[in-house]
Amino acid sequence: MVNKNKRIYLDYAATTPVDKGVLGAMAPYFSDKFGNPSSIHSFGQEAIAAVDSAREKIAKLLDCKFEEIIFTGSATEANNLAIKGLIPNSCGRKSLGRTHIVSTNIEHESVLEPLKELKKLGHEITYLKVDKNGFIKISNLERAIKNNTILVSVIYANNEIGTIQPIKKIGRLLEKINKKRQENNLPRIYFHTDAVQALQFLECRPDWLKVDLMTFSGHKIYGPKGIGALYVRKGTPLRPIILGGGQEFGLRSGTENVPYIVGFAKAVELVFSAKGGSAIKNLRDKLWGYIIKNKGDVRLNGSFNNRLPNNLNIRFPGISNESLLIALDRGGLAVSAGSACSSGAMSTSHVLRAIGLTECQSKESIRITIGKNTTEKEIRIAAEIITKIIKTLKI
Ligand code: PLP
Repeated sequence: MVNKNKRIYLDYAATTPVDKGVLGAMAPYFSDKFGNPSSIHSFGQEAIAAVDSAREKIAKLLDCKFEEIIFTGSATEANNLAIKGLIPNSCGRKSLGRTHIVSTNIEHESVLEPLKELKKLGHEITYLKVDKNGFIKISNLERAIKNNTILVSVIYANNEIGTIQPIKKIGRLLEKINKKRQENNLPRIYFHTDAVQALQFLECRPDWLKVDLMTFSGHKIYGPKGIGALYVRKGTPLRPIILGGGQEFGLRSGTENVPYIVGFAKAVELVFSAKGGSAIKNLRDKLWGYIIKNKGDVRLNGSFNNRLPNNLNIRFPGISNESLLIALDRGGLAVSAGSACSSGAMSTSHVLRAIGLTECQSKESIRITIGKNTTEKEIRIAAEIITKIIKTLKI
């Protein structure tokens, strides 16, 4: 086993370490300023002021309204709220009968699973296919829309292969379609995007993208785990999926997690002040350069262009990713298959299958994601570890 201090972490799409500035901002809200934001006394006032200030900061950075930011316990919950909260409501209001949702076959499980449940309840789902590079075609999306379509949900940047979908173009298209639908008395189509992996690197202002619902997560941007947010455009007919004391404008009951909300806002602030990712991209490109130089027989899964700057998803033909991950970990390098179950067991990636890989090929693929703490030296050592281990595993 490698000395703990010498291990290299290149799995930043799975989670990120909490930034020290974030930790510092959170610290007072655990035991000094511990009030319940719903309490009338000064302890409560201190807590609600912190929640309000966090919401205000995020709203300002996203150029949206204060009450359009809803804090949740995770991005998984935010995705569930967006999908399950919208559908029954719109369905009931417009008496549409079977409603129709358009999504893609490369969504995160926290979108796919609620969609599966809605299907069981009788709603109709169209999953747009992606091409071999990992992109949907806007013309296919336009063709998929029906009179009873009420939601389009498309992931902004994919968590496994990092490919970036044309969210702004889709937003503009839906805006045009919605204008016509209004004239024809058809229900509005709401637009949701899971921006969990995108927030760190891409333009995420909802008005600019023309989205109605947008999901974020704390722990992918150097904030704490167990906090997320959903942007909900004012007027979107969303119903809560968690009922209780009516916090978060009635959309998410439960005492607000004050330290995590404060930490999340600080993490968003830091991400906005550092936006771009060109240093990370440089390191990513260097690593890819080293890998192809030392080990010619490799394939990049998904397009190299229009991809998150920190992401590599690589197939090593003839090598099982399970053996590779274990060997790399023993060698001191932590990467992932991009598709670990909660049990830690490996499953076949639906994303890699969607871009045309066979089951076997998808099990020869690993995801490497670089973060703001990654150094050039780490990249060099990571390349050496990969080259060495590949040689030992090659049959
Ligand atoms: N959506 C995407 C694209 C993700 O990558 C993840 C986390 O892996 C999630 C949603 C779920 O985020 P959370 O861990 O906050 O529930």
